[in-house]
Amino acid sequence: MSEVGGMKISVLASGSTGNCTYIETAQHKILVDAGLSGKKLAGLMASIGKDIGEVDSLFVTHEHSDHRKSVGILARRYDLNVYANQGTWDAMAPKIGAVPTEKKNLFAPDITLSMGDIDVESFSVSHDAAEPQFYAFHSGGKSFVILTDTGYVSEHVEGTIRNADAYLMECNHDVEMLRMGSYSWPLKQRILSDTGHLSNEDGADVLMDVLGNNTKRIFLGHRSQENNMKSLAHLTVSSIMADHDFGVNHDFQILDTEPEKASELMTL
Ligand SMILES: [Zn+2]
Ligand SMILES: [Zn+2]
Repeated sequence: MSEVGGMKISVLASGSTGNCTYIETAQHKILVDAGLSGKKLAGLMASIGKDIGEVDSLFVTHEHSDHRKSVGILARRYDLNVYANQGTWDAMAPKIGAVPTEKKNLFAPDITLSMGDIDVESFSVSHDAAEPQFYAFHSGGKSFVILTDTGYVSEHVEGTIRNADAYLMECNHDVEMLRMGSYSWPLKQRILSDTGHLSNEDGADVLMDVLGNNTKRIFLGHRSQENNMKSLAHLTVSSIMADHDFGVNHDFQILDTEPEKASELMTL
């Protein structure tokens, strides 16, 4: 079978402890975020049979450490083109060390960047970082949307991300587990706020608004190790969808992600 135009994806790591996703087309090898050590990311890449040294571009969503931990190291060691908006560059600059000027790329929110066989679309999210933005990737008629680290999803964003072939969607916490858990009240309030994180229910609600006939794969991402469980996130999303008759005329998979184990490399 021909794989021309196929976009391959693997969620290398997802969760409050570190995030990184790999995307490959015929012309590009891309990472989105680098929230684990360079060594761990190289190992995760090796686990899907890929060499991190071959990655050409890194898109950064925001300056929180679980997204930018090894941005500087990867840029210097592997000669990557790094893309982020101005607010994120400014906020992460003191933490990532020098990035060669010619490798620093400014990628403003709400624009589409065409790079050969892939288009990358940026969109702003509502999160307590300087200028957080996530990305939709379009290649060969397929699209993949990454949306985590947002307390709220606007209609504008929903319009941008509608009917993608695959999603990595935030299901950060179970609201009851968070409320009953050990976090301080200010931290609980931060997570629950409109600039915090999407709960399992919130993630399901967004998915029901945006998924369409093209949607085949839904990765549940950015799961809190403290305030959620893999089985609970999966059950919550699948049962909310079933309650609303999603799944009846849709043939999609709901896939779990892991904090330090790559998902199988799949072609969209
Ligand atoms: Zn995060
Ligand atoms: Zn964040």
